[in-house]
Amino acid sequence: MDEGLKITFLGTGTSQGIPIIGSTHPVCLSDDPKDTRLRVSVSISWQGNSYVIDCGPDFRQQMLAHPVDRLDGILFTHEHADHTAGLDDIRPYFFRQGDIPIYAHERVARSLRRRFDYIFADTNRYPGAPCVDVNLVENNRTIQLGGISVIPISARHNRIEVFGYRFRDFTYMTDVKTIAEEEIDKIRGTKVLVVNALRKEAHHSHFNLEEALAFVEEIKPETAYFTHISHLLGFHEEVERELPKGVHLAYDGLEINL
Ligand SMILES: [Zn+2]
Repeated sequence: MDEGLKITFLGTGTSQGIPIIGSTHPVCLSDDPKDTRLRVSVSISWQGNSYVIDCGPDFRQQMLAHPVDRLDGILFTHEHADHTAGLDDIRPYFFRQGDIPIYAHERVARSLRRRFDYIFADTNRYPGAPCVDVNLVENNRTIQLGGISVIPISARHNRIEVFGYRFRDFTYMTDVKTIAEEEIDKIRGTKVLVVNALRKEAHHSHFNLEEALAFVEEIKPETAYFTHISHLLGFHEEVERELPKGVHLAYDGLEINL
C-alpha cells in the first residue's frame, strides 16, 4: 500500500457554508460545483490510518461523500460550532469501533464536555450515545499518530488560541488571524500548506486573501491551498485565475497525495 499521505478536502467553506440559506448572492446561486462549500474539514489517511481535522455540522454528509470505513480519531482546531457541531454523528464509527479518540486543546475539550454532556457522561449514559476518548493537545508537544509525529501549531483566531497540525510535509491551518514567529518556524519546509483565506475585505478573526498570500510568501511551500472561504471572496474560477503560481483555492472533494 502507498506509504504517503492522502488528503481529502471534505469542506472548504466558512461558518455558514456556501450557498448560504436564502441568499441570492451570485456566488450562492452559482452552478459551478466548486462554488458549493461545506464547513471546513479534511481527512488524512496513510497506511491504514484515518483521521479527520474538525467535525463540523456537515460531518455526516462528508463521510457519506468520501467514506472511510474506520475513523482513528478527530483532531480539533478549536471549539467554534462550524468545527465541532457534527460530533454526535460519529455514532456509526463508535458502534463499530468503540470510544473514538479526540485530540483537542484543554479549553476545547471543556467546551465539548459542556455542549455534548451526554457524550461525556460517566453515569446514566443514554443508550446509543457515542463516547470519546479525550487526548489533550498542548503546544510544543508532538502527538504520535500511526507512526507520524504530528506537530501542533499555535495561532490566534482573534482572542482565542487555535491549533493547526503538521503531518510530515503537510500543514493544515484554519481560522488564523495572527501567528507568532516561533510557530511559523515549525511550518517551514512544509511542501503543502493549507490556510484560511476568508474574503478580500479585512476581518477581525480571519486572514483575508492578502494576509493569506503574505503568509504563503513567508512559508514558501511548493503548493498552497486556501480554505474557510466566504461567498464574498468571489467565484472559484475567477479568484483561482488571479492567484500566483503554486497557490490555489481548495474545493470540496479535492484530493492530494504526498
Ligand atoms: Zn471557522
